[in-house]
Amino acid sequence: MMKDLTGKTQIAGVMGWPVGHSRSPRLHGYWLTRYGLDGAYIPLPVKPDKIGEALRALPVLGLRGANLTIPHKETAIPFLDEIDDLARRVGAVNTAIVREDGSLLGTNTDVFGFSQNLLTAGFSGQDSKKAATVLGAGGAARAVIVALEDMGFESITIVNRSLDKAEKLRDNLQQGKKLSVQPWDKLAGLLEQSSLLVNTTSLGMVGQPELEIDLSPLPLQAWVTDIVYTPLMTSLLSEAKKRGNPVVDGLGMLLHQGRPGFAAWFGKDPEVTEDLRSFVLGESLS
Ligand code: NAP
Repeated sequence: MMKDLTGKTQIAGVMGWPVGHSRSPRLHGYWLTRYGLDGAYIPLPVKPDKIGEALRALPVLGLRGANLTIPHKETAIPFLDEIDDLARRVGAVNTAIVREDGSLLGTNTDVFGFSQNLLTAGFSGQDSKKAATVLGAGGAARAVIVALEDMGFESITIVNRSLDKAEKLRDNLQQGKKLSVQPWDKLAGLLEQSSLLVNTTSLGMVGQPELEIDLSPLPLQAWVTDIVYTPLMTSLLSEAKKRGNPVVDGLGMLLHQGRPGFAAWFGKDPEVTEDLRSFVLGESLS
């Protein structure tokens, strides 16, 4: 049950259009209750052409900041006073923070969310020194690739249905020789060399076609992760688990990406626990 609001309640929210599907109010609401903080986190339906006005209103209204979701992650950038290095590298902002002087800082916490999800599941620095294969070249792939680079991968290969989009992404990310692009028909050879396989396409998500790939060339010690989390156990993860690969589902990325924003707005680095996973799963994903 929501606690009483006071005159001192710190408020943050999520801006999206539509925003009703967002799980962020449930996630941050759980943490606010868990830590007994005088805070509130609200959905903010902001039309695409109103993002500038909405962002500028944050300090005027005394809000602490906001998460940004589709369709605002890139269009918000010109309306922020500063974006940090992560947001610049990814080319997208998912968290805006109102600073003491009322100025707005933008960052991208999907990078942290992706890497924390893998690392807390037991993926080690030793594994990360090898090759990663990333399926997909959409918005989410950008943050995943930046995270993989920061985790120390020696080589990262993007495989995407539309080769031109993958090439554009590679050129935008400017990671030099580390990042390359290959067509789907080269996947088997890439899997043989991979220590990590990541699905960032929407394939396998409820309502989308299945992701159908032959995992047989993938070494059994290679990790497999899917950022799709509806369903939690995608067919990619089920297949990989069945043959003995360590697997990590995508829910943890969503939960961990919320941590830096919560810490900036409400002053507490919150924990991702089994109870939180069940709470988010209980209502949203069953
Ligand atoms: P997006 O920008 O629309 O990109 C979709 C990607 O999927 C593109 O690479 C696209 O390939 C590929 N794709 C779509 N349909 C395909 C098909 N029939 N055959 C082959 N490839 C296909 O989406 P996004 O924002 O990156 O999100 C992708 C998924 O990640 C979604 O399911 C989203 O819910 C999930 N996600 C999870 C988290 C998390 O926290 N766990 C965070 C963000 C996103 P083309 O380039 O060829 O079109």
